[in-house]
Amino acid sequence: MPSAKFEIKRKCKCCGATFLAKTLDSWYCSRKCSQKAYDQRMAEKKKVEQLNAIVTQIPDARDYISVQEAVAIFGISKDTIYRLIRKGKISAINIGERLTRISKSKLEEMFPLREEPIDRSKPLPKFYSMEPEDCYTIGEISKKFGINDSTVYAHIRNYSIPTRQIGNYVYAPKADIDNLYKDVVKL
Ligand SMILES: [Zn+2]
Repeated sequence: MPSAKFEIKRKCKCCGATFLAKTLDSWYCSRKCSQKAYDQRMAEKKKVEQLNAIVTQIPDARDYISVQEAVAIFGISKDTIYRLIRKGKISAINIGERLTRISKSKLEEMFPLREEPIDRSKPLPKFYSMEPEDCYTIGEISKKFGINDSTVYAHIRNYSIPTRQIGNYVYAPKADIDNLYKDVVKL
């Protein structure tokens, strides 16, 4: 049986270009894109820290807050706040130019508190279940995806997929194998 060549084809999470992933954890087409994505995550993190700093400085007892404070507390945009003011949905007082104050308790009725975006800079540790019920045998993989055993072994090595041997059978986690062959293109 001729051995088929397989590659993982993915869309770059940054620029959207299609590229061939070298490992299961490759998500960007180039160093440039992965750097850009990293910078964006850092900028997002910094912004959250700045918003948190603003929130901690607002006394609980004070009801009238600035637009900037409302952005920090509720995670809504300035545009949204000004639109609500224009529509008369929230009352605002102007204590001078650029010094609009709006009611925190009124906003609380309308918006849930800002949820912190998940910090994606620290990926969760990967847990593998190596229990046989969560795994395929090499033979099952070969049958399911129409790839010969030696090619399956080559992929498992190339993509660092963990395996476990029980008796005569080698097991690999279903989740990783499904992920590996999900967006496979036969070349
Ligand atoms: Zn890219």
